[in-house]
Amino acid sequence: MSAHFRKLALIGIGLIGSSIALAARRQGLVDVISIATRKAETLAEARELGLGDIYTLDAAEAVRGADLVILCAPVGAYEAIAKAIAPALEPGAILSDVGSVKGHVVKVVGPHVPQGVSFIPGHPIAGTEHSGPSAGFAELFSGRWCILTPQHGATAAHTEKLAAFWEAMGSDVEIMEAGHHDMVLAITSHIPHLIAYNIVGTADDLESVTKSEVIKFSAGGFRDFTRIAASDPVMWRDVFLTNREAVLDMLGRFLGDLSILQKAVEIGDGAALESIFTRTRAIRRSIISAGQETAAADFGRPHEAPPEPPTPFVREHGGGDDA
Ligand code: NAP
Repeated sequence: MSAHFRKLALIGIGLIGSSIALAARRQGLVDVISIATRKAETLAEARELGLGDIYTLDAAEAVRGADLVILCAPVGAYEAIAKAIAPALEPGAILSDVGSVKGHVVKVVGPHVPQGVSFIPGHPIAGTEHSGPSAGFAELFSGRWCILTPQHGATAAHTEKLAAFWEAMGSDVEIMEAGHHDMVLAITSHIPHLIAYNIVGTADDLESVTKSEVIKFSAGGFRDFTRIAASDPVMWRDVFLTNREAVLDMLGRFLGDLSILQKAVEIGDGAALESIFTRTRAIRRSIISAGQETAAADFGRPHEAPPEPPTPFVREHGGGDDA
């Protein structure tokens, strides 16, 4: 199945949109890339970076004549974008997106999709905590999953073609039902972000520990939460506004398990703690063996080789951090 499109329209050109532009261009998957975004300065930045061929602030103009349209804006903006572009979508085109939630996207975009257009919402499980057109890189999707949720009326040939497009950008593709996607992502992505936002906020609020101490002594565990908690506030606001049910369901389970841990700490139940920690360690090992994470110590952060120790070498404290 050919993964080639004549004209790709990207609505929104932040981290994900710019990464698609770079990857699709590098792989020769498109002839023309047309880019629309909301703010003139963002469009100017995309132009300066040479991400596309056509630049406009008018989303409808961007999609005219496109055989592939991908919405790459925060999901809260989707409904207005769908209304604006619907009359300009070409029959025979594919309309997709990259939003981190899928049920809501189906609900607000679906009704505007004209007949003859295949609506295939998608979600690349790839990202960083950086935003904007300059944050993108062509390798972002390499070795990462992309979930596609084809809707009623989408042709099998179009689903296969879109899957081939993502595969050519380095992704593995899985087809899933939108509601199931939202449950899976609630626990693997949305709740972890909520926890990160919360723990970093709590540390910031502590009165007995100064801000400079939080920063100075940030051990690996906390530091890694701060990376997640630096994620784009608007994107994540929209995720929690639009995947409420699944998030609340998973949050309920999480709080139940947290109170078991709280009890174990309170009564000093070492066996319970050790048993839970052993089970979770095995999960990390399976993620590494599935190729979704590095086994390198400290998340593969580069470490300079330690200087030659003076002889006799006396170690003052253990290496690494107390993550
Ligand atoms: P981003 O870097 O913040 O970029 C968002 C882009 O959307 C910007 O170009 C912004 O441009 C534009 N935009 C905002 N409102 C718009 C509107 N009303 N009309 C047109 N463009 C608009 O965000 P991102 O990380 O690429 O995320 C984009 C989508 O990908 C989101 O739906 C998110 O859920 C999904 N996603 C993100 C990640 C991740 O890790 N970041 C991973 C997977 C999926 P202006 O400056 O012009 O407003």
